[in-house]
Amino acid sequence: MPLSLRSVTPRVHRAQAALLACAVSGCLIAASAPSPAAPLGVGDRLYPTLGNPGYDVRSYDLSFTYTGDNSKPLAAVTTINARTTQRLERVNLDFAHGTVESVDVNGLRADFTGAGEDLVITPGVPLPKGSLLRITVRHTSDPVSGKDRQGGWVRTDDGLAMANQADAAHLVFPCNDHPSDKAMFTIHVTAPDDYTAVANGVPVSTRRSGRSTTWTYRTQHPMATELAQVSIGRTAVLHRTGPHGLPVRDVVPAKDQAELERWLKKTPDQIAWLEKKVGPYPFETYGVLIAQAKTGFELETQTLSLFEKRMFTEPAFPSWYIESIMVHELSHQWFGDSVSPRTWSDLWLNEGHATWYEALYADETAHRSLQARMKAAYALSDGWRASDGPPAAPKPPKPGQKISLFRPNVYDGAALVLYALRQEIGATAFQRLERAWVALHHDSTATTADFERLASDTAGRDLSAFFQGWLHGEKTPPMPGHPDWRSEPAESAKGAEQVG
Ligand SMILES: [Zn+2]
Repeated sequence: MPLSLRSVTPRVHRAQAALLACAVSGCLIAASAPSPAAPLGVGDRLYPTLGNPGYDVRSYDLSFTYTGDNSKPLAAVTTINARTTQRLERVNLDFAHGTVESVDVNGLRADFTGAGEDLVITPGVPLPKGSLLRITVRHTSDPVSGKDRQGGWVRTDDGLAMANQADAAHLVFPCNDHPSDKAMFTIHVTAPDDYTAVANGVPVSTRRSGRSTTWTYRTQHPMATELAQVSIGRTAVLHRTGPHGLPVRDVVPAKDQAELERWLKKTPDQIAWLEKKVGPYPFETYGVLIAQAKTGFELETQTLSLFEKRMFTEPAFPSWYIESIMVHELSHQWFGDSVSPRTWSDLWLNEGHATWYEALYADETAHRSLQARMKAAYALSDGWRASDGPPAAPKPPKPGQKISLFRPNVYDGAALVLYALRQEIGATAFQRLERAWVALHHDSTATTADFERLASDTAGRDLSAFFQGWLHGEKTPPMPGHPDWRSEPAESAKGAEQVG
């Protein structure tokens, strides 16, 4: 029986059914009724029910079937391979915006119900600790946003794209939706022949059947659910070569290909610039996905960053600005994608670094002074801390406005921390730290404490007091080397533009 997770009708669990049968036949067993299904989480301070305890996902295999109408749910099958880290009588997945038709666990049909934004699965027999687990969910994936829940699928003029950060992957497919559980992904998309589908990673196969084509892509590195990308549209896929033969592929509306080429051709040099700063590009491919859609942000989806087309065609945006935003999303491939935040309180590690390289690129290639930008950020920093929290302890997003986690305190406010650190330990040690950070934690997750430790090790002295003030303090500490810089009172603080 299909089950809509927005209007859940709980099914009777097997154990309850057994008790019922016993009662009817007059037998008595000394068993207590199971506790009700409840949403669980991995303990993220900012998103308490995101992710789930008790298992570690190794891989996702996602299949989507697109009809050509982006207002209709896609038929989907999600298969999850995982290993249990504790004995589990139930398995919680995050899933909140589709209809579930059936769930199999290790090849056997399992009961399921919805609880909050979780899909709660009860396998026929409990799963021992350390066992392999294969869950197959047949479901729909609804591209039309709910009233108070944005994110996940983005409807474009010619199809669909994806924007799952921070907590919206589970509006698209059932998953362990927390960046602390990265996994490998295989993504299949079946679409009518006049569409092109592209996803994270590299193409594996293209298979035609009747009037539709199934496109398959696979990641070569683990990925967080928030960084998944699927583009379905009337698009052109353009290929070029980056540093060391890196395959670069861009996905753009086919009709806009010529107009956008002047921007697309800049990517290889931008990759080379970043490699000089922080070391080798961390993935198998890169490219930009330019979507005809109104998102209000750009997003660093792994190996294929999402941009609004308007970003490249709006006459008010100067060239240096567009290029620096391209570098912002590119630098996230190292900071945020290859090295992912262990919790969402570590978001400053993503956005602080991406803003840092965005500003540094503008400084080095377009004479837009990094120091002037940092001085301006310093003036606003106390206000940002008061309204949004310190960079490494941001205030929780407001209900219904979860995007509000992406606030100036983790963008320019966090880039300012990196500027202060460079002032404190010197440019040579700072660059050594940046390179060591991405080399040490690539394809993994890391915390603010990991960064603080590595910085102290690199500088050869204890920086904990420095970080206590700069990352966790209510007030912005004095800027090393600029004792004259002042921060304004909270009430005069203004927001800075956020770029995703
Ligand atoms: Zn960003």
